[in-house]
Amino acid sequence: MRLADAHNHLQDRRFGNDLARVVKEMQQAGIQHAVVNGTRESDWPSVLEVCRHHPEILSPALGLHPWHASSRSSTWVEQLRLGLASTSDSTLGECGLDLWREPADLADQIKVLAIHFELARELGKSLTLHCLKAWQPLMDCLRSTAPLPPFLLHSFSGPPAMMAALVKLGAYFSLSGYFLMERKTKALQVFADIPMDRILVESDAPDMAPPMSFRGAYHRDGYHHPADLISCVEALATLKQIPVGECAEICWQNTQRWLGRELTGRRSSVS
Ligand SMILES: [Zn+2]
Repeated sequence: MRLADAHNHLQDRRFGNDLARVVKEMQQAGIQHAVVNGTRESDWPSVLEVCRHHPEILSPALGLHPWHASSRSSTWVEQLRLGLASTSDSTLGECGLDLWREPADLADQIKVLAIHFELARELGKSLTLHCLKAWQPLMDCLRSTAPLPPFLLHSFSGPPAMMAALVKLGAYFSLSGYFLMERKTKALQVFADIPMDRILVESDAPDMAPPMSFRGAYHRDGYHHPADLISCVEALATLKQIPVGECAEICWQNTQRWLGRELTGRRSSVS
């Protein structure tokens, strides 16, 4: 079984000295590719560095998260371009819109998101989008912009009524282990209706941990271990009523299509 973690933040300080060990444990758990997402200018260098150390499994995404949009420097676009150009496997993210955390300057967030869209088109790079409580504005942005490279709505928890329109726009959707929480049943249920060829799985580690009962042998206090990704695949397989191995493989193929390239994972005969 080969697993792809579509979204995490391995550069996060909470991993500290454990990082090399965590990456090894991810590989032991069958994760053969993971996309490490930056959220602000100050963490882009560490995202690139972490990925440089583990090029066989990690690729970087660089972007300005809406929570950090207002603290950007005057040279952020230049820095972003430089970072993206430093490696051919880079993508754009995490960027998007967020009206959940106050205060939020929506007009400014839209301006920043539009720049990510332009760069993605210009450089032909895939995107990872974050959206909380701003689905209509995001929909307006997606509808009014020129066609984009493949984009992922990470940890998708949008209104079910918008899902079909997002599928039409070419969106991919990723499921995080956090949705295995009992109070998140509705968010999980939405994935039952998302076409299987658009679904990816993600850990969003070190955050968004699944409930205790879904945490595996690698669990350590202080952060959500990305090796727990398997619980996400199992939940999705149950939801879609397909074998776990088949579910993992479909998500792997979807990740490749979203990233627009063949990943180097090996398919094992046991699934
Ligand atoms: Zn994230």
